[in-house]
Amino acid sequence: MVSALRGQCPGPLDERAGGFHCTERDLSRSHCALSDLVAPGIRRIPIPLPIRGLSIVNAYLIEGAHGWSLVDAGLHTAEAEQALRSGLADAGIGLEDVQRVFVTHLHPDHMGMAGTLERAGAEVLMHTPEIAAARRTWSKGHEAIDATYDWFVRHGMPRDVDEGMRQAWIAMGERVDDLEHIGGVDDGESVDLGGRATRLRWTPGHTDYHAVLIDERDGVLFAGDHVLPRITSNIGLYPSSRDDPLGDFMGALTRLRDLPVKRVLPAHGDPFDDLAGRVDELIAHHESRLEATIAAVGTAERDAYAIARILFPVLRSAHEERFALAETLAHLRHLERKGRVREIDGAPARWTTT
Ligand SMILES: [Zn+2]
Repeated sequence: MVSALRGQCPGPLDERAGGFHCTERDLSRSHCALSDLVAPGIRRIPIPLPIRGLSIVNAYLIEGAHGWSLVDAGLHTAEAEQALRSGLADAGIGLEDVQRVFVTHLHPDHMGMAGTLERAGAEVLMHTPEIAAARRTWSKGHEAIDATYDWFVRHGMPRDVDEGMRQAWIAMGERVDDLEHIGGVDDGESVDLGGRATRLRWTPGHTDYHAVLIDERDGVLFAGDHVLPRITSNIGLYPSSRDDPLGDFMGALTRLRDLPVKRVLPAHGDPFDDLAGRVDELIAHHESRLEATIAAVGTAERDAYAIARILFPVLRSAHEERFALAETLAHLRHLERKGRVREIDGAPARWTTT
């Protein structure tokens, strides 16, 4: 999942631009051509999402010499399953013809229908350490969600807002299929998509073990939520996160920047070609957000929630409250590691510049 927070985005998300034949309203009715060819042998299937500000996630259907594969699998709603089936039908196949599904990261809009595809016969693969994180996140006991609730309260979020967010996250989890078995792929290993050779690259930040696939021969990058064309992916700090997710993210972007990629296939928004240009924009965006964060910390000792409300004055849902606070905390942690701000322990914890 990504944030589409006002004040943070370079421009509105418009999944309809370039190549789609449908309006969003048409898409929700699923009555028109739903998929389009975005690279030789690769078809984009737009899957509708019931999330304000983020109406589509792209699944990519790959036709290899030895069968069909899918990258990312949507959130599981009735409309989404219909869109997936329609997209597959556009290619002349059904659910049972998908042999392999690669899921870039554990978020519900990417994992949602993987279990349905598994039950239809597909093998589901993820970056190895992301599998355990996914099992923790979507455990029916909600331990990870409860730990996050406590974490946000510690950082100043009002309990009633936090409770709304907790319930919204639990409801989202109910749209993620159970999965029997997920195959693990390690960083740098190859992933065969029906005869098309790709390589997994670990791209931490948006989640700790988010991964992309690169087809080095054709210069195609299946980017997941790591590099998006019009919005920035949410980089959040959670109680279980690696130490500095924003530092991880910018490091991973830098390592990806000069790879021989000619076509970027993002999970949200349209495919694009200029990877290096977009990486530069994203890094510049976060550099300026870091400066804005220092300004918001100011001279008063504020908790992270108060700082988030300065950085994100308009928040429209419990999800956006969550993303805003987690994103603010990721920026604060990065600044703390650079020696620019300091956390003062307490209930709530407060921040000050050094
Ligand atoms: Zn995501």
